[in-house]
Amino acid sequence: MIGSVQLVLASNNQGKINEIKALLTGVQVLTQSVLGIEACPEPACTFVENALLKARHAALHAQLPAIADDSGLMVDALKGAPGVRSARFSGEAATDADNIQHLLTLMQAVPESQRMARFICVMVYVEHAEDPCPLIAQGVWEGSITTQTRGVQGFGYDPIFWVPAQHCTAAELAPDIKNTLSHRAQALHHLSALIMAKPARLTCPA
Ligand code: IMP
Repeated sequence: MIGSVQLVLASNNQGKINEIKALLTGVQVLTQSVLGIEACPEPACTFVENALLKARHAALHAQLPAIADDSGLMVDALKGAPGVRSARFSGEAATDADNIQHLLTLMQAVPESQRMARFICVMVYVEHAEDPCPLIAQGVWEGSITTQTRGVQGFGYDPIFWVPAQHCTAAELAPDIKNTLSHRAQALHHLSALIMAKPARLTCPA
């Protein structure tokens, strides 16, 4: 059990912050922006490497245990793209609408039966910046890519991500429903279980 420790969260995304705070009961979660820590670059080609870089960066600058995540969309017909480049798929300053348009254009000739895709989220916990044994959890949300946008909720690729079990896109789901199904919710549940199972030595002063 982690006890009454503080954690730094390497994110400025309010949705993620709320989800993580709700699940990690008994833990004081501080965000890196509150501590004046700049965002870390994400140069790696895997989610897990980027999440680890972000967690180590936050832990180093905060001198606290840290949690970070990295997430994105993987499309089978595009060999896993946009992947770690999801946020900047159509260029460095791309908006969500730019990225969606770019993806739909690339997928124009792909038939419905081959439009499978999934959101991935890797979430990492490090006890300190050089932690040799980080806790790592992954969440996967299966779906497919529509041919046009539907819905206004959520962010990113939600308007073109079809959720078969709900018969709608992720952007048509109420936020509280998305937060029980999503890749991020799944990763967070796994990670919080790993953190809560960690020995109490975490609460000892350095
Ligand atoms: P990050 O993990 O916040 O860096 O997200 C990377 C990018 O992946 C986002 O900018 C979105 O384009 C995409 N993405 C990640 N999670 C979601 C989601 O839940 N819905 C839609 N797009 C997402």
